Amino acid sequence: MRKQIAAANWKMNGTLEQANTLLDAFASAALDVNDNRLAIFAVPAPYLILAKEKLAGNPYLQVAAQNIYSKKSGAYTGEISVEMLQSIGINYVVLGHSERREYFNESNAFLADKVNIALEYNITPIFCCGEPLNIREADTQNAYVAEQLTESLFHLSAEAIQKVVIAYEPIWAIGTGKTASSAQAQEMHAYIRSHFAAKYGADVANNISILYGGSVKANNAVELFSQPDVDGGLVGGASLIVDEFVQIINA
Ligand code: PEP
Repeated sequence: MRKQIAAANWKMNGTLEQANTLLDAFASAALDVNDNRLAIFAVPAPYLILAKEKLAGNPYLQVAAQNIYSKKSGAYTGEISVEMLQSIGINYVVLGHSERREYFNESNAFLADKVNIALEYNITPIFCCGEPLNIREADTQNAYVAEQLTESLFHLSAEAIQKVVIAYEPIWAIGTGKTASSAQAQEMHAYIRSHFAAKYGADVANNISILYGGSVKANNAVELFSQPDVDGGLVGGASLIVDEFVQIINA
């Protein structure tokens, strides 16, 4: 059975002091998490070990890296390897976020290499996809998202694809305050699931968690997450506000 997940993406925000305060608050909050409902915190790299330590008391609070490089180790100054993440007990990594695609030119092919090395090291990719505004306005979002998924993920085996978490994040909704309606989210999530079903079969597709991201807040999370193909959210801005993100996790 697929898991429900509330994932926080802190992006490049916060000092050590602020990270300490946030992590302490989440570690002691009353959170409705269990075997099938996880909260995952993608914190900036300098705070990964701190987050592991602070959240260690609750196995349903996991920590994610926001990036990895596609090689195991070597002369790649400034990059973070899967070996490093594995050695500090990190089980998740966000890949393919639209900000990395846009500002760091990450292509579908490069992301396929990152997915491969993450899975080789038993690190679960939270793989982001989603269309820009002009594609949505032209009503070609399904083909756009299908291409991202096909080019980065469809080389995987049926066993491997079920280890990947998908995050659908329409770029026009990220950090803009403009959320996709629950109907728009459901429509795309159902399409994404059908795209996986066409390649891997319905049973495999039904095991894949598909998160929605793009201005998720406490006041829209319940409706978004109640859609049948929406299995949780990837949350930027609201994940830095304790009360907001606690409500989103519990939604
Ligand atoms: C994100 O960064 O993945 C995101 C969805 O941001 P926000 O929730 O702020 O729109």
